[in-house]
Amino acid sequence: MARIVIAGCGSVGACIGYHLALLGARDVVLADRAGIASGSTGKAMGGIRQQFSTAAEVRLARESIAFFEELGSSWFQQVGYLFLATTPEGLAELEARRELQAKLGVPVERVAPRFVAGLNVDDVLGAVFCATDGVADPPALTREIVRRAAELGVDVRQHTDARDLERDVLVIAAGAHSSEFGVELPIRPLARQLLETEPIRDLPPDLPMVIEAETGFHFRRRDDCLRIAMPDAEPRWGFEETVDEAVFADRLERLAHRYPPAAEAGIAHAWAGLYDMTPDAHPIIGPVADGLYAACGFSGHGFMQSPAVGRAVAAELLRGEPDLDLTPYRLERFDGDARFPEALVL
Ligand SMILES: Cc1cc2nc3c(=O)[nH]c(=O)nc-3n(C[C@H](O)[C@H](O)[C@H](O)COP(=O)(O)OP(=O)(O)OC[C@H]3O[C@@H](n4cnc5c(N)ncnc54)[C@H](O)[C@@H]3O)c2cc1C
Repeated sequence: MARIVIAGCGSVGACIGYHLALLGARDVVLADRAGIASGSTGKAMGGIRQQFSTAAEVRLARESIAFFEELGSSWFQQVGYLFLATTPEGLAELEARRELQAKLGVPVERVAPRFVAGLNVDDVLGAVFCATDGVADPPALTREIVRRAAELGVDVRQHTDARDLERDVLVIAAGAHSSEFGVELPIRPLARQLLETEPIRDLPPDLPMVIEAETGFHFRRRDDCLRIAMPDAEPRWGFEETVDEAVFADRLERLAHRYPPAAEAGIAHAWAGLYDMTPDAHPIIGPVADGLYAACGFSGHGFMQSPAVGRAVAAELLRGEPDLDLTPYRLERFDGDARFPEALVL
């Protein structure tokens, strides 16, 4: 049986290793040159949504939901994702996306956002909500998947560069560093930062992920704090993971406006991580050279898609046939003009 080495022990590499073992592969090495979840996975917001603007992204997220649900509520808090529109244009976009998502089977509906206690919706023209979306803890969950993979016989090696290992197939699941494997991949690192508030009393456990459609400002509950994020006004391309404190006051002002119970909270922690962006914000999944297979370029939404990706990649590697159509994610799509850019990168 072929020896498969996976480069990267983030959520994507971990899910591939786990599913390879579930399908009966017996010679799999899951290698990380640092440690488990030490890359973007350890920095992520932990949002799991099926609400995207393209069928290609909706499908990967939707195919992953059952896996998260089976893990149970201690791993996946299904609090829903609430998108708010404050302009007629924003509302029209939300509605168009809702129609696409509903056609693909996502249970997303128009709602009166007042059902979320404490939320200020005075300026909101309309909202959509998907109750089966939710939040999780990416590093903790990834460590659990790695533990299960190891139990099934996967050889987990931390502090090991995968490029140094003997193998028949090397799977590139190295996030923003996926261009370092001798094959040209159109992936650029983009820094994105998260802020975490000081503790806030009486945060409701079922507070959904709340997203302002027009600005991308969003927040979720994490224990007794809120995690907040928003795209930067000027995208920060490159590998530098510095925190920009200049935006703190603006983010707190937005939070106080949208969620007055948090008006007195300051920022307790902040960190930055890297999105591995492709030109169309869809991932690259599939063979990219002899003995090299890519599963990277997740453009800021790979955690929520990792279960479906892990399953499909494992099936393709072992049986030559993925269990879902991977055509939209092949590297070859960049050869022609066909582009289906995902617009909803948060
Ligand atoms: C601030 C932030 C917020 C995010 N929020 C969300 C969110 O809400 N929901 C969501 O779904 N996604 C989110 N993401 C994206 C998400 O974190 C990733 O897409 C997802 O975790 C998949 O990561 P990965 O496994 O592809 O890469 P990573 O987690 O970056 O893992 C790659 C690993 O490869 C290792 N590596 C690199 N080179 C080598 C080598 N040569 N040999 C061995 N190992 C190597 C690295 O050490 C690293 O551990 C967010 C990301 C950031 C930065």
